[in-house]
Amino acid sequence: MPLSSRNIVTYSPAYTIVPTYECFNRCSYCNFCTEPGKSPWLTLGKAQEIFLQLKNQNICEILILSGEVHPYSSRREAWFGRIYDLCVLALEMGFLTHTNVGPLSWSEMQKLKTVNVSMGLMLEQLTPKLLNTVHRHAPSKLPEVRSQQLQWAGELKIPFTTGLLLGIGETEEDWWETLTAISESHSNYHHIQEVILQPHSPGTMQTFNAPPFNPYQLPEVIAKAREILPIDIAIQIPPNLIKDKSWLLACIAAGARDLGGISPKDEVNPDYPHLQDQELSSILEPGNWKLIPRLPVYPQFDHWLSASLLQQVQKWRARF
Ligand code: SF4
Repeated sequence: MPLSSRNIVTYSPAYTIVPTYECFNRCSYCNFCTEPGKSPWLTLGKAQEIFLQLKNQNICEILILSGEVHPYSSRREAWFGRIYDLCVLALEMGFLTHTNVGPLSWSEMQKLKTVNVSMGLMLEQLTPKLLNTVHRHAPSKLPEVRSQQLQWAGELKIPFTTGLLLGIGETEEDWWETLTAISESHSNYHHIQEVILQPHSPGTMQTFNAPPFNPYQLPEVIAKAREILPIDIAIQIPPNLIKDKSWLLACIAAGARDLGGISPKDEVNPDYPHLQDQELSSILEPGNWKLIPRLPVYPQFDHWLSASLLQQVQKWRARF
C-alpha cells in the first residue's frame, strides 16, 4: 500500500545540518541567513562529531540545508564540494541524505544525485510580482529558474520534494497556478514525492512585516491542493507551524498525510520548535490517525537509485 494510505500519517526522523548560513539572496521573510563570510562553513570533522552523536538515536535522514553562494562566485566550487563531501560522510556513517541547497547547475544536480536518495527545492510561488516585493533582492527566486530545477530533477530521475510558501503576498489564484505547474511537471516525469504547504510564520530575524498565514485557512488550501495534485504526491505540512491541535487534525482530515522531517531544530523557522514524535502521535490519536516513520525516499522511486544507495535504503526499510 502507498505510504499515503488511509489512517496513516508519516514523518521522517531527521537531523538538519547546515553547511553554511551565508546566502547571497535577501528574501525579506528569511530567518536563516547571515551575511556572506559571516558564517564559518561546517567542517567535515564537526559533522562527523554530530553524526557520531546521532548514531543509535533512530535518526535516518540527514537533511542538508544551506545558504547559497552565488553561481558565478569563485567560492562556488568549494561550497558545492563541501556539500558533496558532507553527503558522502553522512552516507558512510549509515544515514540517508536529502539535500536542499537552492538552485543548482545541471552538472551539480547530476553529481548530487549520486549521493542523495532524494532532493528538494521549494517552488514557493510562481507569480513574478513577488520579485518586486519579498524577492526584490533574491535572484535565486526567479520563478523560471525554480521551474527549470523541477524539470531537471525529473529529467535526471531524482525523487523530489517541492512546495509552496503561503502568505508572502500572493493571491489564491497564484496558489492554484503554482500547484497546477507542479502537477504538470509531475505528469511529465513522475518524480515529485511530496508537496509542502508551508504557512508564513513570522520569526524574529525577518524584515518582512506581515501577519502569519491564517492557520484556519490551511485545511481549505490542502483540500484544493489534493484536488489539483496527482494522488501519488503526498501533501506535507510542518506541524510546528500549526499551533492549534484541532487544526492540525483538520489539516490531516483535509488531505495532508506527511509531517516532514522531525528534527530537534527547525532551521528555517527557528522560533517554532518541533514537537517530537510521541507528542505528535498523541495529537493524532483522537482522529484515529497512526503516525509512522518513513525514509526520505518513497518505495516507488527505489529503482532510480544506484546499487549502493539502494542497498543502504533497503537496510533502513528493514528497520522501519
Ligand atoms: S530564504 Fe533561502 S534563499 Fe532566501 S535569503 Fe534565506 S537562505 Fe537565502
